[in-house]
Amino acid sequence: MKFLAVVLFVITFSNVEASEHVAASAHKETHKREIGPVTADTALRYLVNGNKRFVGKQFRNDGVSTKDIQKLASGQKPHAIVLSCSDSRVPPEVLFDQKLGEIFVIRTAGQAIDSSVLASIEYAVSHLGTNLIVVMGHESCGAVKAALSTLNGGDAGSPSLNKLVGDIHPRLKRFSRLPASANVVDESWSNVEGVAADLTTRSEIIQSAVESGELHIEKALYHLGSGVVDWK
Ligand SMILES: [Zn+2]
Repeated sequence: MKFLAVVLFVITFSNVEASEHVAASAHKETHKREIGPVTADTALRYLVNGNKRFVGKQFRNDGVSTKDIQKLASGQKPHAIVLSCSDSRVPPEVLFDQKLGEIFVIRTAGQAIDSSVLASIEYAVSHLGTNLIVVMGHESCGAVKAALSTLNGGDAGSPSLNKLVGDIHPRLKRFSRLPASANVVDESWSNVEGVAADLTTRSEIIQSAVESGELHIEKALYHLGSGVVDWK
């Protein structure tokens, strides 16, 4: 009888331990990133080559067939996340010559980040396994100009606009006493660098994926006149 009690205790204890172990690993699993389609370096190469095709007007003609559309209906594995400006002249799919399902795009004026933007990026990093984030600004950015013009005070036009330029202001502080650069290129680069840095300080998911070495953040600037994307 005593033996049976010991056996029962061991079995019960083992089960508790086992179920706790399962629960712990399940918890861990939810924080584990999906395996990405390609490495960050490969994704970057796709974009660099895509922009060369765009500039040279040598566009791809694949990736838009009915078969491609149907293939993507069951899921997506975009190779890059692109955070860029909403400006109608800078659509990432066009200027990187990328097709359906290839890049996960978030666009806001001045590529401003708020919790929705961060959550969108976190989703792609955690659940789609994307290993590259590109923060892309552009020359003559209206949001950067608006932030510059209100750097020493002033109203951007609405509470939402004031919030947006207010987030850009710290990234432009060093320009407060300088004349604006040609096409606000220097200021736009500074904003891009600030956004890239803020992505890791404002998101633990992005920060830990960057620290693991898998996720890279690249900085880019699009030139409206030439169609060329510069990288930093
Ligand atoms: Zn812009």
